[in-house]
Amino acid sequence: MTCLVLLDKALRIHDNPLLCQAGKADSSQLLVAVVCLDKAAYFGHQYGVARASLLRLQQQLQLIADSKQALAKLNIGLVTLFGDPLAELTALAQALNVRQILTATPVGYTEQQLVKQLAQRFEVITNDINSLLGSPSLAPELCKLPDSFSQFRKQREPLLLVESALPEFTPLPDQQWLTPAQTAPFCENFSQLAPFSQPESLAGSGEQQALARLDDFIWQKQAIRHYKTSRNGLLGDYYASKFSAALAAGSLSVRFCWQQILQFEQQHLANDSTYWLKFELLWREFFRWQFRKYGKAWFSKSAIKGPPDFSTPALTALQQNTFNHWCAGQTGVPFIDANMRLLNTTGLMSNRGRQNVASYLIHDLKLDWRLGAAYFEQRLLDYDVASNWGNWAYIAGSGNSGERQFNAIKQALNYDANGDFVRTMLPELSAPGRMIHQPGPGVSVPAHWQYWLSKLTASKT
Ligand SMILES: Cc1cc2nc3c(=O)[nH]c(=O)nc-3n(C[C@H](O)[C@H](O)[C@H](O)COP(=O)(O)OP(=O)(O)OC[C@H]3O[C@@H](n4cnc5c(N)ncnc54)[C@H](O)[C@@H]3O)c2cc1C
Repeated sequence: MTCLVLLDKALRIHDNPLLCQAGKADSSQLLVAVVCLDKAAYFGHQYGVARASLLRLQQQLQLIADSKQALAKLNIGLVTLFGDPLAELTALAQALNVRQILTATPVGYTEQQLVKQLAQRFEVITNDINSLLGSPSLAPELCKLPDSFSQFRKQREPLLLVESALPEFTPLPDQQWLTPAQTAPFCENFSQLAPFSQPESLAGSGEQQALARLDDFIWQKQAIRHYKTSRNGLLGDYYASKFSAALAAGSLSVRFCWQQILQFEQQHLANDSTYWLKFELLWREFFRWQFRKYGKAWFSKSAIKGPPDFSTPALTALQQNTFNHWCAGQTGVPFIDANMRLLNTTGLMSNRGRQNVASYLIHDLKLDWRLGAAYFEQRLLDYDVASNWGNWAYIAGSGNSGERQFNAIKQALNYDANGDFVRTMLPELSAPGRMIHQPGPGVSVPAHWQYWLSKLTASKT
C-alpha cells in the first residue's frame, strides 16, 4: 500500500509530525512526499482581482524548490503537481496505488472542501501541525468556541501547554520513501510558470531563512525584549518579528516558535514584550479556529454576522476608479499611499499600516471590504486565508467585533510624527515636517479628520 504525504503548508524538516509519523502504523507502506500548487489560487481571479502577484508566485515556487532540495539530501523525492488539487492528487493516487493520504488539518474553506472530497476516495489522516492548540487534548470544540478574541484568550491561555516541537526529521530505517529519481516522472516542471530570479524581498519564507530570522530576532539581537513598544513601527528590520510569511507557508512551526519564546523567558527575561509576542500568536490561532467554525461564511459580505451575501461587489465606474487608486497607492492621502506603495513593492506591510489602509477603504472610501481583502491576498507574501479575511472582516465590523475605524491623519501623526516613513516611500513629496501628511488637493476630506488636519497646519509655523 502507498501513502501520500501531502506537504502543502508543511514544507519543513524541523518539527514536522507529518514526515515523522508517516508509515508508523504500517512499515510496509511506500511513502510519497507531494506538494500541489493550486492553479486557481495562483492564476485565478476574484471580484476582478488577480489572486496572486508574480512575487507571491515566485515566493511559493522558491519555497517548493528549497524544500525539494532539503528532502533530496535525505534521499526523499518531492512530487510537484500543478492544477486542480483534487484532480491532480486523484490521478497521482491512482498511478501509485495510493490508499492513504496524510495531510495538515485544513483551515480555509477551500482546503476543508479538498480534504472532505479526498476523504470520499481515500483514507485521509489529518494532523493539525500548524496550530498551537493542534493536539487533540487542546483542540477547542467548535460549537463552544467564543467569537470574541478576549473570551477566547481568557478561556485558552491558562490551559495553554503547547506541545513540544519534534526533533529535526531524519527518515527512520523502516520508512520507505520514494526517492528523487523515482518521483521525477510524476513531477510538473515549474520553470515555465514564472521567471525564476529571487527578488530580495523574498528572503524570509523558506525554512532556513525563517529559522535564521527567529534566531536573530529572539536570541542574537534580542529584539523580542522591546517588541511591545516597537511593534507599531512601519519600516525597518527589528520593530516586529517578521515571522508571518514563514508561519503562513508552514515553513516555520508555530509551536517551535512558541517554545523558543518560552525558552527565552526562562533563560533571559520574561516581560510585557515577550508576553505580547505570544499574545499576537494567539490572534493568529483565534482566526484559524474561527475559520474552521464558520467556513465559507467568511467570504460573504456580512461575513459571520447577518444573512450571507456572496454576491460580487458591484462597483460604479467612479468606485472602480477609487479602488484602482487605493490599490496603486494614489489616493492622495500620503500615509495611506506610502503603506500601499510599500505593499506593492515588497509584498509586506506593518500591522499598523494594514489597519489604516483597510479602515480607509472600508469606512472612508465606503468600498466593500472584500475588495480590499482580495487585493491583499494578491499582494501579501505572508498571505494567510484566516489572518487576512478575518482581520478585514474585523475592521469592517462583520467579523469578531464591531466596526473599527482608524483616523488616518491622527494615526500618521502618532506613528510617523516626522513624516520619515512617508518621505521614504513617496520621495516625490517635499512638504516640510508634519505637513508631509497633508492630503492632496483632490481628496475628499472626512469630517473626522478636520481636527487632526488643523494640527498639521499648526505644526507648520
Ligand atoms: C487588514 C489586515 C490583513 C492582514 N492579513 C494578514 C495575512 O494575510 N497574514 C498574516 O500572517 N497576517 C495578517 N495580518 C496580521 C498582521 O498584520 C501580520 O501578521 C503582521 O503584520 C506580520 O508581521 P510580523 O510577523 O512582523 O508580526 P508580529 O507583530 O511580529 O507578530 C507575530 C506573529 O503573530 C501573528 N499576528 C500578529 N498580528 C496578528 C493579527 N492581527 N492577526 C493574526 N495574526 C497576527 C502573525 O503570525 C505574526 O507573524 C493582517 C492584519 C490586518 C489588519
